[in-house]
Amino acid sequence: MEYVDVPPGHPRAESLRIRGKLIKHFKEGVVVAAGLIAHGRGEAFDYLLGERTTEPALKAIEAAAATLLIAKRPVISVNGNTTALALEEVVELWLELNNARIEVNLFHRSFERELAIERLLKEAGVKEVLGVGDAASASIPGVLSERRRVDPRGIFIADAVLIPLEDGDRAEALAKMGKTVIAIDLNPLSRTARSASITIVDNVVRAMPKLVKAVKKLKGSSYEELRRISFEFDNRRNLAEALRLINNRLLELAAKGVALEL
Ligand code: ATP
Ligand code: MG
Repeated sequence: MEYVDVPPGHPRAESLRIRGKLIKHFKEGVVVAAGLIAHGRGEAFDYLLGERTTEPALKAIEAAAATLLIAKRPVISVNGNTTALALEEVVELWLELNNARIEVNLFHRSFERELAIERLLKEAGVKEVLGVGDAASASIPGVLSERRRVDPRGIFIADAVLIPLEDGDRAEALAKMGKTVIAIDLNPLSRTARSASITIVDNVVRAMPKLVKAVKKLKGSSYEELRRISFEFDNRRNLAEALRLINNRLLELAAKGVALEL
């Protein structure tokens, strides 16, 4: 079963539709097998969160929008799963930010996959995609393997990097380079979530449209106001709130006897 033609009345229709998108992109060489597994880990946390954008996530989205708006060299880092699940929103965000660049950065790097992602982004209107092939000629200090390679015009010189669905090692190394790292990760306990400056604990499918909306809304704000929103955000406290929220939700469900409506 490919999950592509999901009956609309199916109780898990949305989740199956998202899986269908990933499978389609897997077959087209955009998503790798490990990406499918990573999505499953995300889904498990989404269940615990109640498959909705929570208050702490909304707060993080606002801080992320403000941070991206005041950044001098913001970069949106894109991988296979992000392309499969949020291509349109990546492009919309790029358009809204004026000065942003889009860079392909893959955990499982292959030139064919970089080209496939670049093609989809270009078809969606992006003029230049960074990080493809030899363009990724700079290295992130402290990261071994192919994951260290970045574009000297993009992530390497960025002051703020949006990394939807990133790996912990690289997220940590980018933070060590002094960059403001904005992560979208359903797992509040991952290394990515804990090393980022701003972690949006939400599904990339829900978070990206909300991030675009927040950027549109905050665009008219003063620099001082944006700086305040960005600086006042406390990631540790926000992650603790996400954990508390999961904890309380599970305790409530347990008290109700679980069988009741989730
Ligand atoms: P880390 O390397 O940060 O410690 P990890 O090794 O557990 O995390 P990876 O396999 O590196 O995880 O990356 C997958 C991460 O992406 C997981 O933390 C998972 O929760 C998250 N994830 C997967 N799909 C989504 C999604 N659709 N939206 C948001 N987060 C997702
Ligand atoms: Mg990892």
